[in-house]
Amino acid sequence: MTDNATYSTPPLPESRTITRDQHGISRKQMSPNALRVLYRLREGGFGGYLVGGAVRDLLAGGSPKDFDVATDATPEQVKSLFRNCRLIGRRFRLAHVVYGREIIEVATFRANGGEDVEGDRQVHADGRLLRDNIYGSIEEDAIRRDFTANALYYTVEDFSVRDYTGGYADVEAKLLRLIGDPEARYREDPVRMLRAARLAAKLGFTIEAATAEPIPRLAPLLAESAPARLFEETLKMFLSGHAVASFELLEANGLLPALFPETAQALASNKSGALRRMVIDGLGNTDRRVAADEPVSPAFLYAVLLWPAYCRALALLQAQGVHAVEAQRRAADRVTLHQVSRTALPRRFSLPMQEIWLLQPRFSLRQRKRITRLLAHPRFRAAFDFLELRLSASNAHADDVAFWREAQLHPAEAGVVGNGPASDAEMLDDALEQASDEGEPGAPRKRRRRRRRNGAENSESA
Ligand code: ATP
Ligand code: MG
Repeated sequence: MTDNATYSTPPLPESRTITRDQHGISRKQMSPNALRVLYRLREGGFGGYLVGGAVRDLLAGGSPKDFDVATDATPEQVKSLFRNCRLIGRRFRLAHVVYGREIIEVATFRANGGEDVEGDRQVHADGRLLRDNIYGSIEEDAIRRDFTANALYYTVEDFSVRDYTGGYADVEAKLLRLIGDPEARYREDPVRMLRAARLAAKLGFTIEAATAEPIPRLAPLLAESAPARLFEETLKMFLSGHAVASFELLEANGLLPALFPETAQALASNKSGALRRMVIDGLGNTDRRVAADEPVSPAFLYAVLLWPAYCRALALLQAQGVHAVEAQRRAADRVTLHQVSRTALPRRFSLPMQEIWLLQPRFSLRQRKRITRLLAHPRFRAAFDFLELRLSASNAHADDVAFWREAQLHPAEAGVVGNGPASDAEMLDDALEQASDEGEPGAPRKRRRRRRRNGAENSESA
């Protein structure tokens, strides 16, 4: 029984085998554990292939972050070959072979329609599919994958690469090409549009013309994808060292409004381009941090990506006459609320993101006790980094940045009252503090503050 009605059957190039002397992949570049799995499968009489991102990255000159294996053995047969193996997944069972911290995922060849795309439209969703319908041949497994570059199979049988979709030539030409009819494949799973942008950014590939063509038209379909999956995809896109390129490709392919609607709107109406510069600089910093192996946080990333939306919401509220402090709080909430319906954003990230925003006005308050308090704020460092970033959009905060840079180096000397009469600023500060306290689950920070006000500066460590 086949179910090709919803899938177009595209003309595919002849299958081809790229022999060891023709390709540049060597076993030295592979995870020894992945190789162990391949050899064990072979000893057990099964076919075992390295597949997907690992083969693609090795051919493209990168170093894969994980090694996935495809096989004609069923999950149960895989389990019987490895002591360190557990089966996961319900509808589509996968075998995980566990070596300490490394997990080699072993998937049985699947036929078309066998996407375990969580939370999205599924062509076969009833979970009572016939086994023969899920498992397939290696050719079927190849064509149900997304891009030709992702459908190459490396085997230790003769160390060759098996190519059923023309992926080898596409990798050589640095082309990202969907397998099959692009529009149909995007309709099956709109996230493939984001994967196109992400992988093109990561690999420095061009999205092949017919693969790119439908994207701007079909981008709105992403609204049907599960927000949690879009959140995961967003993190992969922006926290893997290719954030600037990914952002530019999202823009160029009309995907930004689908993923970050309010940011896209704010950038379009910001004629000076200052907000966009700030976003690009923020993403550039993120890329540098990833390259230097420094930690990067989803909260800071989202603070950057949604800052244009926040600024716009804030301006609109203030134009309606809402008081500054109240407007800040409402703008932060509104932007967060709208965004989570699109990409999800767990509270453990959205709360610090809001704090980063709400702390910004406090950098222009320079009385001694406020300085000490802000320096001790758990989110001070992130908020200050954010302030520095805002310099790329406008020079207005240059004084603040210089002052707080100094204050961090010599906190004891930083007691100068900065700008003008304190009363307004003080009110703002108190209200903001209250706002950010209320946003925090539980009350420990409030207690800490009160103690500090009584003069016990280091009460946390005492
Ligand atoms: P990365 O380097 O980010 O891991 P990847 O291509 O390995 O990239 P994974 O999400 O790990 O991405 O997917 C592994 C493989 O599964 C892909 O190479 C592709 O063959 C297949 N695949 C993943 N997502 C899809 C999808 N939405 N539709 C079809 N095939 C997919
Ligand atoms: Mg992968």
